[in-house]
This record gives sequence, structure tokens and C-alpha cells, in this order.
Amino acid sequence: MNTNLKIFAVLFINFATITCVSVFFALPRIKKIYAGGAAQFQTSQLDGMVLKSLDREYLAVSVFLILLAIVLLAASIRLVGKILQPTHAFIKNTSARFYPGGKGTLDEASAAIDRLLNYADALDKAPIGIMVVNSNGIITFFNREAGEITELDSAAVVGRSMIQFFPNNYYNYTIEVLKTGREYLALRNIIKAGGFLKELLFSISPLRKGEQINGAVAVFQDVTPQRKMIEVQAAYTLAKDLSTQKDLEGAMRVIAAAAAEMAQIEWTAVFLADPAGSLVIRASHGIPEEIVEKYNSGPLRVGSPEIKELYRNRVPLLHGDAGKNSKLKALLIIPETNSFYSFPIFHLDNLAGFLNLYSREKNKLSKDVIYLLQTISRQVNTAASNFYELQLMRTLASVDGLTGLLNRRRFQEILKSQFTDAGGKFPLSLAMIDIDHFKEVNDNYGHQFGDQILREIAALISRQVRENDIACRYGGEEFSVLMPGISENKALETVERIRTAVEGTTFYGPDRIPVKITVSAGLVSYPGGAATAEELILHADTALYTAKRTGRNRVIGYEPGQKITG
Ligand code: GH3
Ligand code: MG
Ligand code: MG
Repeated sequence: MNTNLKIFAVLFINFATITCVSVFFALPRIKKIYAGGAAQFQTSQLDGMVLKSLDREYLAVSVFLILLAIVLLAASIRLVGKILQPTHAFIKNTSARFYPGGKGTLDEASAAIDRLLNYADALDKAPIGIMVVNSNGIITFFNREAGEITELDSAAVVGRSMIQFFPNNYYNYTIEVLKTGREYLALRNIIKAGGFLKELLFSISPLRKGEQINGAVAVFQDVTPQRKMIEVQAAYTLAKDLSTQKDLEGAMRVIAAAAAEMAQIEWTAVFLADPAGSLVIRASHGIPEEIVEKYNSGPLRVGSPEIKELYRNRVPLLHGDAGKNSKLKALLIIPETNSFYSFPIFHLDNLAGFLNLYSREKNKLSKDVIYLLQTISRQVNTAASNFYELQLMRTLASVDGLTGLLNRRRFQEILKSQFTDAGGKFPLSLAMIDIDHFKEVNDNYGHQFGDQILREIAALISRQVRENDIACRYGGEEFSVLMPGISENKALETVERIRTAVEGTTFYGPDRIPVKITVSAGLVSYPGGAATAEELILHADTALYTAKRTGRNRVIGYEPGQKITG
């Protein structure tokens, strides 16, 4: 029987019941009217009989009607029960869900429904993005925060496929969840929202109905600010550590160690191009010394085609499985490498090196760490650039522009530190070399030719001294050579070599006129010849003066009693 029929039956039964009850209550009145009528016609004997029989009939009909009413009422109640059964079952079911083990009364059920509505409201207002999709990937729920994060209108996305609003990777994860029922927790990915890139932290879980998966719920959060904070923090810590470093090596060591620590990775190295363009490992962390030395003995070159090709796009090289990649071979200085990450460093827009990370493990770094390392590599950029600038400025400040030798200021600094280092424990010799009659050279052949002579003699001195010796243009046409660890006799040999070399050289002036030049030199050695660095210079000058006075083109050692005048 369908519900409409049941309702009709209930109505009919109730109508019948009401009729029965009404007739039951109406009977005494019928009886009275009837009795009144009989009295009017003064019937006696017969009437008395009629009335008696009426009483009996009345009783029978009454009993019948009462029974009928009871039966009809019972039927009606049963039918109403049947009609309400599904509703009742629903309420019972619902209330049982919200009150497990509860009785499932109507009050409880309505309270439960209220609560359900509250939940829905709370989910809508939750400070986290919530999206529900059905088994076809159609969005069925999209709360306010989801709208805020994605900068989409919640009302506009519900009923549409999520692929229209989310990048492929999100969609693919969701499809995977719908297909396999597996859960993805704490994934991180980037979306473009309102013209900005945002990083989302999200989880996708399946929704089940019995055994079947009939949808998925994605919960997500915009973690861009947190990531920025972490980056700022890392950059700050690093900058603080870097600020205590006085040289590039120190700074690079801090960076290599910081990268290893942040990435929790075995090996890191900072490669920087030297002035000749060789990509030398300037600092490393965890890499055996022999490997660094071996690489540095035949380093890659910044201008080589393979390096140019690899860093053409100026983006980091990220290889979770680098072992098989033949293009990377030259960069994989550690044979056991499986994961390889390389962050290029630029100076004045040119590739100047890279921060490299190596691991035995495949796919060692998560996206988070990669972002962080990008921040670090920017620090390397800044640190390297600063040092390059500083180096350049230092060079400019300490080198003589005409000859390329160190200038007097720098020479005096070096002399002071060498004097302190020697400290009487090892010898230190100083020669002052002055061109003889240089004024005449200028006067006869011009200033330009004079300059050329200065350059050539500077080059000649550089060729004659040892690697550890420090040659400088002390001023005008005067040069000085500092020879750490060299005693007087040895130093004398060196300076004599310089003197004879100049003497043996023919310089060519304007119109290729051959010009002969000589130099005089004064020499002093420590310990013995001086008590302070200043005294060392003074005594060398004194000896030079003696050389000039005694005929020029000679080298004279300082002797106590020599005088600068007279
Ligand atoms: P002495 O043998 O006594 O050293 O004679 P001198 O002529 O070399 O010495 P003096 O100190 O009288 O003259 C030094 C000259 O060196 C003066 C100057 O013309 C020249 N001179 C100094 N600096 C430069 C320079 O940068 N370029 C050129 N072309 N000449 C210079
Ligand atoms: Mg001179
Ligand atoms: Mg001079």
C-alpha cells in the first residue's frame, strides 16, 4: 500500500470512528424524541413494548458502535505508525549517530540535527580551507576560508569540477584518493591565487559510504607567511654568522656548514670562480680533503660549454636521482652521490659559482628545504659579491696603478705584520732600490718614456724575486723588496741579481734610441739591523744613500755608523 492510500485509509477510518462515536452519543436523543412522539399519540401497552425493545436495540447498537470505534481507532493508530515508520527510523538513526548507544528520542534527535547544522556552520567559518568533492571530482562544499585562500568565490565553485580551479597536481592527488582510498597528509604545493603564488599545506582524505569511496575532503592552509618567516629567520642567522667572518673563505665555510645543517645532508661545497675563471672549491663541509684537493687540482671552468649549458637557465639544478645523469658527471665529485642539488651564484649577472649539496640518499631534499637553500644561495651571492667588491677595492687601494706592484701604504702594512711575525725568530731582509739619475732620463727622453722604464724595471724586479718576497713601488723611482725568512747574504744575492739585470738591459727610448739605466740599492736585515719596522726602512734608506754617495749602480748593506747625510 502506498503512503497516499494509507493516509486516505486513516482519514476514512477516523471519519468512520467519529461517525460511530457521534451516533453512539446521538442515540439517547433519538430515543427521547421517539418516546415523546409515542406519548403524544397516547399509546400505552404497545408503546411500552416498543420502548422496551428500543432500549434493547439501543444497548446492542451502542455496544456495536463502541466496539467498531475501538477497532477503527486501533487500525488508524497502526496505519499512522506505519506511515511514520520511515521518519521515525530516520530520527532514531540520526539520533543514534549523534548519541551512540542513546535511546534516540525525538528530542535528542532534534538536538542532534541542531548540532549537525552547527557543525556545518562551524565548518563554513573554520579558519582553515575545507573542500569536499564527490566521486567525480565535482566540488560539493567549499568553505569561506577555502575561498579566501584560493581567492575564489565559494558559491561559484560549488557544482564545478575542481580541475577548473586547482593545478593538475592537486587534482591528480584527489583522483588518486578517490581511486585508491589512500590518504595524503601534509603535502605542500604552490598555487596561483589572485595573481600571487601561494604555498599550501594540504591533506586529502577519502569519504566513504560503507565500503565505497564516494568523495574526498581536502583541508588546506596557506603557509606562505610561515615559509617567509623561516626564510627570514634562516637568512638572519646566516647573516649574523657571516658578519663575524673577515674573509671570503670564512664566509663560505659558514655557508657550507649552514647549508649542511639546514638540509641535514652529508656533503656541501661552495665553488667560486677565481680571477682566471676556474671554479675552485672555496669551502666544503663533510667532503674528504683528498676529494677537494683532487678536484681543485683540475677544476671546471666557468666558461666551459658544459657549465654554460647546465646553468643556462640560471635556475638551481635539482636531481633526486643524479647517479645516472651523464651531463652532471663532471659536477659529481663524490662517487656515491645519488641526490645532487646545485644553486648557482651570480656576480654582476655572471655565473660566479655554485652552492652544491650531495647525498647518498635518493630524493634527499623536500621542497621546503629547497626553498630555504635558495635563500641561502642568495646569501652566498651577496657575500661573494661583497667580497669581490671588497677585494677589488682592496686591490685598487693597495696596488700602484702604473707598475702593478703593491703601493707604499700596503707595503708598510705588510712590513709591520711581517716584522711582528718574525719577532726575532726568523730573519727578514729589506732592500730599497732607486733608479740612478732618473731625472735626466725624464729630461732627455720625456716623461712617457720615464713611465715605461718604471714599468719595465718593476716587471724585472718581480721576475727576480722569490714567490714569498714582496716587491712594491715605494714612491717615485724608488722600489722596495721585503724578503721574509731571508738572511742578509741571501738577500744580497737577490738584490745583486736585480742590479745586474737592470745593468744588462738595454731600454729603447723614442725613435728606438738605446738607453742604459742603473739602480742603486741599500739593504738591511733583521734581526740585527733594526729594532723596529720603521728603523728597518730608515736603515735601508741610509744604506741606499751610501750606495748613491759611493758611486751608484751598487748594492750596499747597512752598517751601524752609516749616515744619511754628509
Ligand atoms: P739619483 O741617482 O740621485 O737618484 O738621481 P735622480 O735623478 O734619480 O733623483 P731625483 O730624486 O733628483 O729625481 C727623481 C726623479 O724621478 C724626479 C722625477 O722626474 C722622476 N719621477 C718620479 N716619479 C716619476 C714617475 O712616476 N714618472 C716619471 N716619468 N718620472 C718620475
Ligand atoms: Mg733616483
Ligand atoms: Mg729617488
